Amino acid sequence: MQCPSCHSENVIKNGRIHNHKPKFACKACGRQFVENPQNRISEDKKALIDKLLLESISRAGIARVVGVSERWLHSYVNQKYKETPPKVQVKKPKASA
Ligand SMILES: [Zn+2]
Repeated sequence: MQCPSCHSENVIKNGRIHNHKPKFACKACGRQFVENPQNRISEDKKALIDKLLLESISRAGIARVVGVSERWLHSYVNQKYKETPPKVQVKKPKASA
């Protein structure tokens, strides 16, 4: 475990955040951080990604431009689709019983 600010390994566990992920504190510079880097994607960056997703740019390209991992982008897009209600109702074929 390394401090994202000063890269010191002199970090201690410092409780948990709201979603129960462990929180760490750096004893060298006093910075507090969580392990999962996903939490570091800012809202600004997400807004930019939302715009780029509307363009015909590959997701790999977006990930490179914005500076996120393709894996993160993939899960972000999946999450987005889940949140957005579908515009078109997909009719399920009726089961003929
Ligand atoms: Zn530090």
